[in-house]
Amino acid sequence: MSSPKYITALPITTVSNSSTPHGVTGTPLVTTQSTTLRDFRSHAPGYWPDATKAEWSDWRWQLRHRVTTLAQAEKHLRLTPTEREGLLLTAHKLAFGVTPHYFNLIEPDNPDCPIRRQVIPLAGEAVIAPGEMADPCGEDGHMPVPGLVHRYPDRVLFLVTDRCASYCRYCTRSRVVSGVGDQELETDFEEIYAYLEKHTEVRDVLLSGGDALLLSDAKLRAILTRLRAIPQIEFLRIGSRVPIFLPQRITPELCAMLKEFHPLWMSVHVNHPRELTTEVRDALGRLADAGIPLGNQSVLLAGVNDNPDTMRALIHKLLRCRVRPYYLYQCDLIHGSAHLRTSVTKGLEIIEALRGHTTGYAVPQYVIDAPGGGGKVPVSPGYVVYHDKEKVVLRNYEGRIFEYPEKPGPAATLVSPEAILDY
Ligand code: SF4
Repeated sequence: MSSPKYITALPITTVSNSSTPHGVTGTPLVTTQSTTLRDFRSHAPGYWPDATKAEWSDWRWQLRHRVTTLAQAEKHLRLTPTEREGLLLTAHKLAFGVTPHYFNLIEPDNPDCPIRRQVIPLAGEAVIAPGEMADPCGEDGHMPVPGLVHRYPDRVLFLVTDRCASYCRYCTRSRVVSGVGDQELETDFEEIYAYLEKHTEVRDVLLSGGDALLLSDAKLRAILTRLRAIPQIEFLRIGSRVPIFLPQRITPELCAMLKEFHPLWMSVHVNHPRELTTEVRDALGRLADAGIPLGNQSVLLAGVNDNPDTMRALIHKLLRCRVRPYYLYQCDLIHGSAHLRTSVTKGLEIIEALRGHTTGYAVPQYVIDAPGGGGKVPVSPGYVVYHDKEKVVLRNYEGRIFEYPEKPGPAATLVSPEAILDY
């Protein structure tokens, strides 16, 4: 393997330049031993040693060099039989595609790598477990116009594209995303604008897909301009995983353009602290500097982030990137997702381990998108122990019990922990 044409700023673990003992070429860039969850690291150029710095920093180069085939994946990774089988399925299901930036985070020899589990398909994706659905959030039933989901009273979800920078194996919209699934996304832009002009109750539009930030600046500007021309629309949001999969896309020009459409907020999607590389941190910084409030939506995934230590590292690192941990989603009941789902009990344990033990800004709201189209339902550990006309009895993060009067009256009183037995 030839030497990189530029030097990475942060230490990364590199090993022999020759083939690894099992015959896989490429440089294993990440090992669990060498990586702390707290640090921001760059892994460029990693498996692409011949990329120039200009190429690496060009988001279109990143898209052109995505890893999209079994042959490309196994050039660098030692694949398990179930991963190989999973990769072969992707011609007819959610496509396989990973940007070089993100692919560099995958440990080549570790099938349990939390980054790998998110983007390398497994054979289990072909198995439909009881209760799983093609459209677990019931979006199709709430689509008054193709490409527009109107489920909540004052806000809509506008699906502007079916493409993403990389594809997440648990994607709730995998039936339409990536262009190879059972359904096609046929967004009717003009009909959507007409619908929004008529529906004056809609004050909040969320652009998603697919990923809106894959559109060119000009196309995105055209959409935002049309939306801003609708008088009652107060609030624009973009839901995007591009800052994580493709941080190069967050150019100064894009940020300057987005800034013209304030108030504009963005929800990003990070599941594991290692996804927060130096490039991602800097991209998030550019968005924050453009005055865009940033929130994070994580999905609770087995073997990725289903333990308090990983989640704590993630939320603390997000705050350092000026991103507020916003939602922790229970993984939707999407077809073939059983191997990535974990129990609600586990989610509650994680929240219990965070709430009160760290700053409230860092603790996301745990939610379940009610199967079939019920919308997001917040789920919390039981902090309200008892509630009647007189009082509410509360349990704090240490397990201590307090009473608060239901009506104005005496101040809250600390009762003995044993008193909980009475409730
Ligand atoms: S980025 Fe979002 S829409 Fe795209 S595959 Fe991942 S979860 Fe699905």
